[in-house]
Amino acid sequence: MLNVEGLRSRYGRIEVLHGIDLAVNSGEIVTVVGANGAGKTTLLRCLSGVQPVTGGSITFRGESFTAVPAYRRVGHGLAQSPEGRQIFTNLTVEENLRLGAFLYADDRVEKDMQTAFAMFPILKEKRNLAAGGLSGGQQQMLAITRALMGRPSCLLLDEPSMGLAPIIVAQIFEVVKSMRDLDVTVLLVEQNAYGALKIADRGYVLETGRVTMQGSAAELIADPRIREAYLGI
Ligand code: ATP
Repeated sequence: MLNVEGLRSRYGRIEVLHGIDLAVNSGEIVTVVGANGAGKTTLLRCLSGVQPVTGGSITFRGESFTAVPAYRRVGHGLAQSPEGRQIFTNLTVEENLRLGAFLYADDRVEKDMQTAFAMFPILKEKRNLAAGGLSGGQQQMLAITRALMGRPSCLLLDEPSMGLAPIIVAQIFEVVKSMRDLDVTVLLVEQNAYGALKIADRGYVLETGRVTMQGSAAELIADPRIREAYLGI
């Protein structure tokens, strides 16, 4: 579904992605794990089209995406839930969700909103309240469901567990796992390597802008190097 070959990106003169090769197949949950500053966010921003690519290629469902502008990528089925949630704090929960569906004006918008509310019932309770008043976990739930309102076939998730209490992280990871039932393919970027690998099919390890390991999630969880460097075991 998503193929990345030799992807390079830089900030000014400093290159931070040095030729990333990565593939996500339809129906998979794939995770990219790595420490702070490894380049995970930059990678996702290149995929969604908000960060310039300086080398390599991105192909989505057989089409070259490398030069496609960000707003068009959403229409092709690639949506992102960004780092730091980036919700519209002055708008209500419902208005945030409707913005996620900005491409659509059909009956399915209401249905998709009910699906979002079924995923995270607290959002239904707070649908008419300003999103800025939500807790961090609720804002993360809103960021994920807002991205889903764009009807993606592939969802890019940037660190959904960041800064959240373990019980909320567990709830969010459960919902990410359930994307399989919605036919949504997932590329999940995480510092919480264990949590991410537990729900993923495959994973990549990113270190200072390079993929240093890849494999099935079970292989990576069992690998002594991963256990020591990322799982604290
Ligand atoms: P984090 O978990 O902290 O978000 P990350 O793995 O997502 O880390 P990136 O945010 O992609 O990593 O950062 C990769 C590298 O690019 C780091 O060295 C970072 O300092 C640098 N970087 C990120 N954003 C910018 C920017 N706007 N200008 C300059 N350098 C940047």
